[in-house]
Amino acid sequence: MRREDRQFQRRRAELVDELRRKGIGDETVLAAIGRVSRHLFLEPALHARAYRDEALPIGLGQTISQPFTVAFQTALLAPVSGERILEIGTGSGYQASVLCELGVRVFTIERHLPLYERARYLLGELGYRVVTRHGDGTQGWAAVAPFDGIIVTAAAKTVPQILLGQLRRPSDDRPGGRMVIPVGGSFGQTMTVLTCTGAESYHVRETETFSFVPLVST
Ligand code: SAH
Repeated sequence: MRREDRQFQRRRAELVDELRRKGIGDETVLAAIGRVSRHLFLEPALHARAYRDEALPIGLGQTISQPFTVAFQTALLAPVSGERILEIGTGSGYQASVLCELGVRVFTIERHLPLYERARYLLGELGYRVVTRHGDGTQGWAAVAPFDGIIVTAAAKTVPQILLGQLRRPSDDRPGGRMVIPVGGSFGQTMTVLTCTGAESYHVRETETFSFVPLVST
C-alpha cells in the first residue's frame, strides 16, 4: 500500500471515531463509511480535506454532503442487504457507494449531466454496481419501482407525492418501504422519515435540522 493511501486510511478511521463521538451509533453504517475512499469523489485540490466532517464543493454549485449527514441519513434509512434503494441527487456518487458497501441494490438519479457522467464513470472504476440515471428525480423511477427505500439528498420544499407512490406497500410479514428526505425552505430542513403503512397512508417521523442544496424540479 502506498504511503498516501495509508495516510488516507488513518484519517478515515479518525473520521469514523469523530462520527461516533457526534452520536452516530449504527456500527454497520460507520464500517461502510470506513471502507469508502471519500477523497476519490473530490478534485485533487480538496483531497487533504476529504476526511474532515464537512460538505465540500463538487462543481456546478453542488456539494458532497458532510459525512455526518451521510451517516445520519443512512442510519435512518437502515438498509438491509439485498434491498432496492433509490437515491435522488447522485452528486459525486459518494452516498451511493456507501449504500453499495451495505449490500443494497442502488438506483440513483442526477439532474446535472456533467455530475451524472462523472459519478457514473467513477462508480464503475471503483467497482460499485450502481444503476445511474440522468433526469429529474422528483419523478422517481417508475420503471424499476417499487423501492424498499428512497433517500433524497437535496432539500425538498414539500414531500414529492410521486416518490411516496413508488415505495413498496406493506405485506403481512414486512413493513412498507420508507423514505428519508430533508424537508423545508432554504434556511434549514427537517430530516423526515416516512414509512408506508398502507395503500395511501404513511407514518411520519421528524428528526434533526440540516442544510442541503435545493431539490430542483425541471
Ligand atoms: N448524494 C450526493 C450529494 C449531492 S448534493 C453525494 O453523495 O455527493 C445534491 C444533488 O442533488 C446535486 O448534485 C443536485 O444536482 C441534485 N439534484 C437536485 N435536484 C435534483 C432532481 N430534481 N433530480 C435529481 N438530482 C437533483
